[in-house]
Amino acid sequence: VRVVALVDCNNFYVSCERVFAPRLAGRPVVVLSNNDGCVIARSNEAKALGIAMGEPAFKRQGFFTRHKVQIFSSNYALYGDMSARVMRTLGHFTPNMEIYSIDEAFLDLSGFEREGIAARARRICDTVRQWTGIPVSIGAAPTKTLAKLANRVAKKQPEHGGVFCIDHAPGRPGSPVRSASLDALLDGVDVADVWGVGRRYAAMLARHGIRTARQLRDAPDDWVRRRMTIQGLHTVYELRGIPCIPLEKAPPPRQSVLTSRSFGHGVDTPEQMHEAVAAYAARCAEKLRRENAVASQIMVFVMTNPHRPGPQYVNSVSMALPAATNHTAVIVRAAQTALERIYRPGYVYKKAGVMLSGIESAATRQLSLFDPDAPTAAKGAALMRTLDTINARWGRNTLVCAAAGLGRAWSMRQLRKSACFTTSWQELPLVH
Ligand SMILES: [Mg+2]
Repeated sequence: VRVVALVDCNNFYVSCERVFAPRLAGRPVVVLSNNDGCVIARSNEAKALGIAMGEPAFKRQGFFTRHKVQIFSSNYALYGDMSARVMRTLGHFTPNMEIYSIDEAFLDLSGFEREGIAARARRICDTVRQWTGIPVSIGAAPTKTLAKLANRVAKKQPEHGGVFCIDHAPGRPGSPVRSASLDALLDGVDVADVWGVGRRYAAMLARHGIRTARQLRDAPDDWVRRRMTIQGLHTVYELRGIPCIPLEKAPPPRQSVLTSRSFGHGVDTPEQMHEAVAAYAARCAEKLRRENAVASQIMVFVMTNPHRPGPQYVNSVSMALPAATNHTAVIVRAAQTALERIYRPGYVYKKAGVMLSGIESAATRQLSLFDPDAPTAAKGAALMRTLDTINARWGRNTLVCAAAGLGRAWSMRQLRKSACFTTSWQELPLVH
């Protein structure tokens, strides 16, 4: 019998902060987006205060102070590392898993009989909590779509203790799931909250009187197929307990690598802009190498802040790289050339970005007859390996391309960022 579990970390970013600040347990906590802009994560206490997702922080300053809301800048080094720890822990329970997002994974728990699933799910919760400090909720079901719904129940109804299972009809393993309690559960779910439905389809379905997950499950196949393509029909089958969406164990190779950020404050000198673009290009090269990939195309873009008065300018340019590469110096040089084509003085820039595309595996790349770097390619690869090793050992940006600058006056505003407790030797948590 197929059983899929969706493991989802509770209020993930907030939970990461709490691991290293246990005094925050039970208190309202929010995490802000880049440049301390909007609320992107809330503890249950913050949700109870009525703080909404995406609210601009500056509008709520007084409210936050009055209610003693703890505020954090986003600390992606910490969240990324904690996520890797959670995923590694989950890997102990099954080799068949799909990492679905930074804080969610689907696990194949097939092979544990009916009684065993809930117990095993509970053991997974306890182990993740003990090994990483992160609380998780688990929903288990015969299909991924139902597992998503089960997970919502596990989270929203605390009486289940963080674990909720939707079973096959008792005694009929493999048969479509049907029961009065499941009907009631699906009755209570807005069709827009069904995994894969999305807002546009939800509006279309509502026009045809389909408002709940149960109504969608019971809609006629050919109607669904006509209106929502084969993907929509798969969703409907999955609601009926018939698996259509497999676990993706290997993530599809990415099409592009993007590094783009808003500046901490407006950038109005070409020197700062060149530094920022070089730093983003170097970061892209690093991401490529981590995936053992090379890119053959680079795109650079710059933009001013449309919400500020003053002249506006947005532009981008795309160029072919001399050959498919992941060499930092080559990519930074190309990014600088591209930037020179679109940079215009007299503007206050808010954001820039670098995107690499034409991505292929480094092992199978096309060599270029005219590649000026070809004779030194092996040396270049060794240099990049050394660079990555040093930065992995001593912390990101220990060795940088000089073009990316050292002062980084343009970098993000993060006034309330916690330390990189788990990824930097200098910032280890202290025990008093
Ligand atoms: Mg989550």
